[in-house]
Amino acid sequence: MSSPETVVATATVVSTEVLSPHFIRIELGGEELADFGVDGPYLDQRIKLIFPPPGGTLPDLRAAGDNWYSVLAELPEGEQCHIRVYSVREVRGEGRDKRLLVDFVLHLEPGATGPAASWAAAAKPADNLIVVGPRIGADWGGIEYAPGADDRVVLAGDETAVPAISRILGDIADDVRGHVFLEVPVSADILDIAAPASILVSWLPRDGAGHGERLIPAVLDHLGTQQHQSVPDDEVDPDLWETSTYSSSEDDLDAPSAGGIPGVYVWIAGESKVVTTLRRHLVNDLGIDRSQVAFMGYWRRGVSMRG
Ligand SMILES: Cc1cc2nc3c(=O)[nH]c(=O)nc-3n(C[C@H](O)[C@H](O)[C@H](O)COP(=O)(O)OP(=O)(O)OC[C@H]3O[C@@H](n4cnc5c(N)ncnc54)[C@H](O)[C@@H]3O)c2cc1C
Repeated sequence: MSSPETVVATATVVSTEVLSPHFIRIELGGEELADFGVDGPYLDQRIKLIFPPPGGTLPDLRAAGDNWYSVLAELPEGEQCHIRVYSVREVRGEGRDKRLLVDFVLHLEPGATGPAASWAAAAKPADNLIVVGPRIGADWGGIEYAPGADDRVVLAGDETAVPAISRILGDIADDVRGHVFLEVPVSADILDIAAPASILVSWLPRDGAGHGERLIPAVLDHLGTQQHQSVPDDEVDPDLWETSTYSSSEDDLDAPSAGGIPGVYVWIAGESKVVTTLRRHLVNDLGIDRSQVAFMGYWRRGVSMRG
């Protein structure tokens, strides 16, 4: 039993497709996904994925409803599951034939991999995981993209934000103007994505450079400030989440801004230190208004995310 707002569905791998050296697309199906969905576009809709413990099986959450998290937390040690947050890349089909596509970043370097990336790398048809996400007709939340009246957008992110940004570009109106910056591990990770003609998409392969070394200067240069300084590690909140309606650092969302960048909505997601650095320059140097931005830490180097 899922709750009125939440679908908690055991889903089965239908197919896998290696898109590039660091991206694998996993198509999930199963009749429990029938009610999964939103009434409008998915944009950057986030979902939670629950992975089976190594060599173990998934719990039966069908009767848990909204208590799914407590049920998971009470499982004995060897049966504990990992929960991670991912984006809806695409939804195909209807009802019991619905398919959910998720693009996983493969980060498999020793010491820098985790249960989700490892599961995705080994996934094969008939493997299962649990999807926790929105129910059609209910207000589940989980979409942050909110440009309001701004008529120009700047979307920027690393490889973990490529699925969300690709979905946004597929969902927004054809006449939205703007610039997209996508930093990916290597040139071969540049994907063929659809975007409105009035949006310029710049792929920024690191090809050996560090995280943010391509993205930070490109975004700051585009927005009109060139000097930049990385924030110190001890000032990085791995769970950085700053939008027009929520501040993980409890900033005053109504504080007056310095005037910012009129008419531009900025959406940035990726490694938390990189996003924090960009945030600091956009807020401090450019005085961007809080209603015009979303800064989201999708992962943090050296930290296992808890979902
Ligand atoms: C709203 C939201 C949407 C997201 N959408 C997607 C998505 O669609 N696709 C996607 O792939 N990710 C997405 N992410 C990011 C994903 O949740 C994290 O990368 C997560 O940490 C992966 O879990 P894991 O079990 O593989 O690694 P964890 O157990 O969390 O971390 C283990 C180690 O791996 C490192 N690590 C984690 N992610 C990366 C990475 N990408 N590159 C290099 N090292 C890494 C950590 O620093 C840590 O050292 C999203 C995150 C959020 C918050």
